[in-house]
Amino acid sequence: MTARLDVDMGAFAANLRRIRETVAPARHLLVVKDDAYGHGLEPVVRAAVDAGVDWFGTFDVATALRVRAVAGPDARVIAWTVYGPADADAALAGDIDLGVGTRPLLAMVAERAAAAGTVAQVHLKVDTGLHRNGIRPEQWSDAVAEACRAEASGSLRVVGVWSHIAESSDAEDDASRAQFLEAAAAFGNRPLLRHLAASAAGFARAEFRFDLVRIGAYAYGIRPSGGPSDAELGILPVATLVAPVADVTRDAVTLAIGSLDGLDSRLAGHLDAGTPGGPRRVRTVAETTTIVEAWPGAAPGQDVALFGGRAPLSATDVAELLGTIGEQVVLRISPRLPRRYR
Ligand SMILES: *Cc1c(COP(=O)(O)O)cnc(C)c1O
Repeated sequence: MTARLDVDMGAFAANLRRIRETVAPARHLLVVKDDAYGHGLEPVVRAAVDAGVDWFGTFDVATALRVRAVAGPDARVIAWTVYGPADADAALAGDIDLGVGTRPLLAMVAERAAAAGTVAQVHLKVDTGLHRNGIRPEQWSDAVAEACRAEASGSLRVVGVWSHIAESSDAEDDASRAQFLEAAAAFGNRPLLRHLAASAAGFARAEFRFDLVRIGAYAYGIRPSGGPSDAELGILPVATLVAPVADVTRDAVTLAIGSLDGLDSRLAGHLDAGTPGGPRRVRTVAETTTIVEAWPGAAPGQDVALFGGRAPLSATDVAELLGTIGEQVVLRISPRLPRRYR
């Protein structure tokens, strides 16, 4: 008997519908980095394709190729980190769009595409203030000129212009949006996919949607800490962390899960778990076991929900207890725990 992460595919499909309706006429690019936010890449991609998602985004090329294998040739898949020439070659061979945020990378991708006799599909990234990656605005016109030269030689096509924003203050995001619009304007009025927003701005601010909205968190039902509720957003938590009862004494129940499985020990004394007898307070979290207050009829093998869709608290509720974000709470759950899809 081991703990597991239950993944509710009905809730996931409902979130995808909600996102599609909210961002329309822009399209939803489903972000599946970090093993689909810990939910398991392949099953998530398969379900998303069935639900009509046709754009996927990952950090790395290796993950993008796994998406391609599941989603088939018609899906559009973008990777926004390229580690070197071999990585670029693999992306080009797998028909993966590349997010390109530096001029050396632009040159390298063009060169590898020319060598392979193919055309790289590039989304050029402008840095609009996060300083993570992206071409600085003062270098943008040179980068655009380089990209246009590579296009003329047939090795590359700029299919998109994009950036990533903080989504923590409207004023900062507005400034980023203005820089973004200026950068996109350097391409004149040729057809170009513009994408800027992730979950928060994509839902809250229509003028940030443009052609594509790159949404991860809300698709998995993870609301922002301190932000609007699940009900206000119209999303449902997708994952539930479930642990079986291992042992029962008169006043306490031991669960087969612990901090080594990714349950934060600081939750002891604060977290209410969902038991067959109703909510019960978690008393201690040890390395491989967790102790919860007893309930009448407690018996080994019963399921207890620690957080998520079938528990009293969602991942973000737990994150708020810990001073972090819901994504981190889910991502801390050990990849060793099985994911069960239902
Ligand atoms: C993670 C990520 C997103 C998605 O952000 P959410 O807040 O999870 O929707 C979008 N774009 C980029 C570049 C990202 O790294």
